[in-house]
This record gives sequence, C-alpha cells and structure tokens, in this order.
Amino acid sequence: MNYVSTRGGVAPVDFALAVRMGLGTDGGLLVPTTIPEVDAATLRAWSRLPFADLAMEVMTPFVGDAIPRDHLAGLIRRSYAGFSHPEVTPVVEVAGAHILELFHGPTAAFKDVALQLLGNLFEYLLQRDGGHINIVGATSGDTGSAAIAGVRGKARIEIFILHPQGRVSPIQERQMTTVLDANVHNVAVRGTFDDAQGIVKALFNDLAFKREYHLAAVNSINWARILAQTVYYFYAWGRVSGGDPERRLSFSVPTGNFGDVFAGYLAKRMGLPVARLIIATNRNDILARFVHSGVYAASDVHPTLSPAMDIQIASNFERYLYYLHGQDPAAVRSLLEGMQRTGRLSVDEALHQIVRADFDAEAVDDAATLAQIRETFEATGYILDPHTAVGVRAATGHPGCICLATAHPAKFNEAVTAAIGRAALPPPSLQGLMDKPTRCALLDAQVGAVKEHIRTTLAART
Ligand SMILES: *Cc1c(COP(=O)(O)O)cnc(C)c1O
Repeated sequence: MNYVSTRGGVAPVDFALAVRMGLGTDGGLLVPTTIPEVDAATLRAWSRLPFADLAMEVMTPFVGDAIPRDHLAGLIRRSYAGFSHPEVTPVVEVAGAHILELFHGPTAAFKDVALQLLGNLFEYLLQRDGGHINIVGATSGDTGSAAIAGVRGKARIEIFILHPQGRVSPIQERQMTTVLDANVHNVAVRGTFDDAQGIVKALFNDLAFKREYHLAAVNSINWARILAQTVYYFYAWGRVSGGDPERRLSFSVPTGNFGDVFAGYLAKRMGLPVARLIIATNRNDILARFVHSGVYAASDVHPTLSPAMDIQIASNFERYLYYLHGQDPAAVRSLLEGMQRTGRLSVDEALHQIVRADFDAEAVDDAATLAQIRETFEATGYILDPHTAVGVRAATGHPGCICLATAHPAKFNEAVTAAIGRAALPPPSLQGLMDKPTRCALLDAQVGAVKEHIRTTLAART
C-alpha cells in the first residue's frame, strides 16, 4: 500500500515512510492510494475477534509489505497490553446508549489508543532503518501526557514537551512531570499556551536547527494515528451488532481536530455498516456550521468545559476535503488557497448534499454539557466526562447510537463536580500522582532559551 499527499506534491511512499514523514513534505496530509474494502463475511468474522487480533486484520492491508506480519503483531500486542481493561475499548450500556470507553490507557484519554502504537512504530522503524528523532511539542493538556506515555523509555527517541507554567490542570501537569525516564524532558515556560506553541513553531521553522536536531512532531495528522482509531469503530460495531451485516449503527464523536471522526469515516468507506456519523462539537462549532451550511469559516476560539475540543481549524479536515472532491489534489489546493486568502471556504450544493449524507453535526454548549452529565448520573449512576457528555447530548434523537467516551471523568473533576456535586473516583493510573517525585525545567518563554535547553540536554544524553 502506498501513500500520497492530499496536495499532490509527494511521490508515493510506503507505510513505513508515511509514518516517519508525518506531515507531507508539501504541507499536505498523507492518504492511502486506495481504501481496502471489507465484505459481509469478513465483517461477520471480525465481529468475534479480540481487540488486538482485530487491529491486526484492520491494519494489515494499510501496512502492506512495509512491516512483516509477525513484527506488526508484536507491536500491536505491546501497544495494548498496558491498557487496564481486558477488552481494551469496552462498550457499556448506559440508559439505552452504548458508551465506547476509550479511556483505559495509561493517561486515561482516548489519545493513548493511537499514541501507544505510534511510539512503538517509531521505535521499531528507527531501530530497523536507522536514525533517531527528537520529538518537540507544546501542550495545553491531554496530548502532551499521552505522547510522553507513548515514547517513554524508547530507544532512539527523545521527547521535549512544553507546557505553560501553572496553566494546565494539576493532574495533567503531574501526568507529564512524574514521568522520570531519561528520554523525557518536560519544560514549563513562563507564559501562555500560545507562547509555548509559538516557540515550537519557531523551532520547526528554523530549518537548520530542525535538520541538525532531527526534530519530529507529535500531532494528530500522522496516518498511523488515524489507522489505530479506525479499529475501535469495527470493534464497537461487532460488539453491538453481534456481527449482523444488516445492522447499520450510528456513532457520536466528540470532535476537535477531526482525527477521531475521520477514522470513523474511513471505517465507513471500508464497508462498516454505519448509519450516521455525528460530529459533536462544543461552542467552537466550525465543523457543525460546515455540515449545516457548506461553509467552513474560522472564528475566535472560546474556552469551554471540554478543552480538548477548543479548536477552530481542524487539522485532519483536509483529508475529508480530499475524498469529498474525488481525491483531486488540485481541488484541495485551490480550496486551501481560498481559505488562506479569505478565512473561509465553501462547497457547492451537490457536494454539500454529500457532506450531509456523510455526517450529522450538533454543537453543545457548556450548560447543556453539565445538564447531560447530571441527567445521565441521576438516571444511571454513570459519570460522563465533559467531552463524552457533548457526544451523548449530540446523540439525542439517535436511539442505540454508539457514543465515543474520550476521557475518564476523573481527569475533568471540576466540571463533574459542578454538574453532580461530587468528584469521579480516579482510575489507578491517576492515583497518587500528587505524591510522586517530578522532574521539569522552567524556562522563559523565549525561543533562544528553549533552543539552548534542547542543545545542552541532548549533549548530556550522549
Ligand atoms: C483530542 C480529544 C478530543 C478530540 O479528538 P479529535 O481527534 O481532535 O477530533 C476529544 N476528547 C478528548 C478527551 C480529547 O483528548
């Protein structure tokens, strides 16, 4: 299987190169040249598989010859062995809805499903093909800890994660700074998240520095992340449908960067019997407005109770635009150029009909999010985290919908307490964090200071 760019400027590369490349060298996103299709008999057979075996089946055609089968199986097994639930991503019944719990990984957020695999893939490919990378990223919360958990202790990989000092939640900060592996380097910057992100951008824009220090990014655009997330759509469908290919099921997906819901779209294109894919957003509703109007127009980012979804420009959306336009990179380029110039893009009526057939969308504000946490708790005793609550609210009117639960409620206990007057009990991975030793550098929010820190830290490591 080969991969090309949504913007048409990357010669076909295999899966291994696509994973190492991350973002296309032309600035586009990598996509497979064909999408493998699954027939009814296969769906039936897959519906009985445990998660890791299913992951193997779903991923194999996308990986192709790039990784031998037994090596891939080992990578998958290792990636999900650390999940605290034997089913990895179990489905539970809550008041007529099916909740797909994606938060049983080491950092209690769904990003673990993809980043545990990505960390193992990076290490495997670097050991096999040579090289080493220094991952640099900025985080306002969930992504940083999941990325650190994905690569801690791995050979040939160092990771530097910048967070704004005192501006991530205490639990999120401790999830990062209590990781003491020698290849993990936390940096608190005296500034805001935008300052931290601006520094990371400046480092990547300094091409000489980027090359000399083999900088690599952790962002949601790596194809391997999409692929890992596609697996649990098949898994949940199998558990709920019993493997009956006639059973079309809907999914409600709390959405920020469009990675998770794009994975659902991919599953549907592969032949999974999906009725509706519901894009659930918070007040930052650019994607919901697009589905309703056919116009994609950025506005300001508003902070909400579901901060992992406080996003305006969704980085994976370009992949959908590519498929919507019949895999035509010229059409994608022209849409993005228009977006650059005017801050908006739109699709014509015929394409808008396709968008509406592909997705439903609902924007849920903070008041409705809290109301949903309360209503679900009062009816069933089950505690939703605020991101999951957005998805459950958006699924109102879709009985039997599978709602993706993207974080453990104990990660967002402020919102939970505001809704139901008590906190959720933390899972073992979040217990005792406040008592553990930490390691973290504190730097001024200046590119020069961070560069110097990376230089001296790496020099001391070799
Ligand atoms: C990242 C994240 C999301 C949004 O996922 P996307 O793939 O960016 O759409 C939703 N909920 C939680 C808890 C997250 O961490």
